[in-house]
Amino acid sequence: MEISASLKEEIVRAPASPGQGCVALVGAGPGDAELLTLKAVRAIAAASVILADDLVGEGVLAHARPDARIVYVGKRGGCRSTPQAVIEQLMLEAVREGENVVRLKGGDPFIFGRGGEEVESLRRAGIEPVVINGITAGLAALTGLGAPLTHRDRAQGVVFVTGHPQKNGAGVDWERLGASARDLRLTLVIYMGIGSASHIQAGLLASLPAGTPVAVIERASLPAQRQCITTLGQLLGSLREQGLGSPAIMVVGDVVLGVRAALTGAPPVAESALCEASAD
Ligand code: SAH
Repeated sequence: MEISASLKEEIVRAPASPGQGCVALVGAGPGDAELLTLKAVRAIAAASVILADDLVGEGVLAHARPDARIVYVGKRGGCRSTPQAVIEQLMLEAVREGENVVRLKGGDPFIFGRGGEEVESLRRAGIEPVVINGITAGLAALTGLGAPLTHRDRAQGVVFVTGHPQKNGAGVDWERLGASARDLRLTLVIYMGIGSASHIQAGLLASLPAGTPVAVIERASLPAQRQCITTLGQLLGSLREQGLGSPAIMVVGDVVLGVRAALTGAPPVAESALCEASAD
């Protein structure tokens, strides 16, 4: 995408005090650089320092200035991720050195991924960051298969939920969540759930039918995207069979019935029929 020189020069935000830089938490979207917002592109193009997560797609960083310092703070090449306290410290130091800092986070900065903690830490240091939304992976994942997360006849709402067990060992009560999804007709969009898939499956099966449709989408929106359409009862078997792993999103609910026919093995709908339907 072409960005005018004047836009590139534009500063994302005025510094809070002389000599101090500024910081923006920027959503990099699910991976496909075409899904970046214009605001995100502008902020990336203006940054002198970029602290990037591992889930940020390569094409996204193509918008950075050639002289920008890019620091990867995620788990790259099997290395351990940078501790959260170190990331927060790096951000603070760079701002104090007068840099224009972009903290580039996968998806949306405020959906999981500790964006809230980073904002709080900056505020404690007297710095108010700009936050720029990105398309969250849970939304992009099912959209990429042609299905919506809500549907008048299939789901009245959506729950974005983490499948990662919490620090204190307490986690989501999947049986209760499944019962709410059933009673209130909600789509469940599960982040970070692959490692706990058997636990999630067992909990949800206590309240939802085994035939409940499930989609698992790995690396949504990236060239390496893979997915499977299965049911709650067969979830673990399908994951093993297809060898799907992280990062992946699991979507549970009837909205999965709306994915493109080619993905479910159903006979394709003739294009003319689709045109007629959309003309109504
Ligand atoms: N802030 C991010 C989520 C960070 S938590 C967002 O809004 O998307 C990290 C989890 O997000 C991963 O474990 C995975 O469940 C999900 N995720 C992120 N990018 C993904 C992608 N391209 N495809 C599938 N899942 C993804």
